[in-house]
Amino acid sequence: MRLPKLRELKEAVTAVFSPRFTTRFPATPCVVPEKYRGKPEFDLETCIGCGACVNVCPTPGCLSMEDDLEATPPVRRITHRYDTCIFCGNCEANCTTETGIALSNEWDLAVLNREDTIETHDFELQLCEKCGEMIGTKKHLIWLYEKLGALAYTNPSLLIAKSNELHKEPQDVEQQSGKDVQTSDFMRILCPKCKCELNIRL
Ligand code: SF4
Ligand code: SF4
Repeated sequence: MRLPKLRELKEAVTAVFSPRFTTRFPATPCVVPEKYRGKPEFDLETCIGCGACVNVCPTPGCLSMEDDLEATPPVRRITHRYDTCIFCGNCEANCTTETGIALSNEWDLAVLNREDTIETHDFELQLCEKCGEMIGTKKHLIWLYEKLGALAYTNPSLLIAKSNELHKEPQDVEQQSGKDVQTSDFMRILCPKCKCELNIRL
């Protein structure tokens, strides 16, 4: 019985003179490893609001998207609640622009109120200038124009979306819901259905 007691005493004395195993956080900042999977962060410069990340997020309600067509201007609202995020990285891996969202090194995500974990980002929507149908976000059309290069010249909607972006003042285009598509609608931003009708008319 005496031998185990002596061994415990030796371990206790050794521990007193050994360096500590735990970190000194918060006195010393915590340094996370390279490729740590922390809070996903949107890059609003390169995110185009396409919603692909919302579609691949496996956690219900973590990433969600809502199109508000009654707002002025109409907007797509992408919401991220990081309290339900499982840091799987699907959003980053499947981002259309490849850099619109990325897992960061941010790990200290504790809050007192879960509502503080909700972030929303708004993207202006482009509606069909003929029937008012939602086409997508304006940023998405401009991204397509730049991605396609010379091929974008085959699609007047992309050209007009880009030229509208270059105007300092927003273009006031009259909506013509209810009227048939005319050949004069060629230089309008049209949804696929109206474009199809126009192509048949042409
Ligand atoms: S890391 Fe996974 S769970 Fe978190 S937002 Fe991205 S896809 Fe959703
Ligand atoms: S997939 Fe990328 S570009 Fe599209 S909404 Fe998500 S973060 Fe933005």
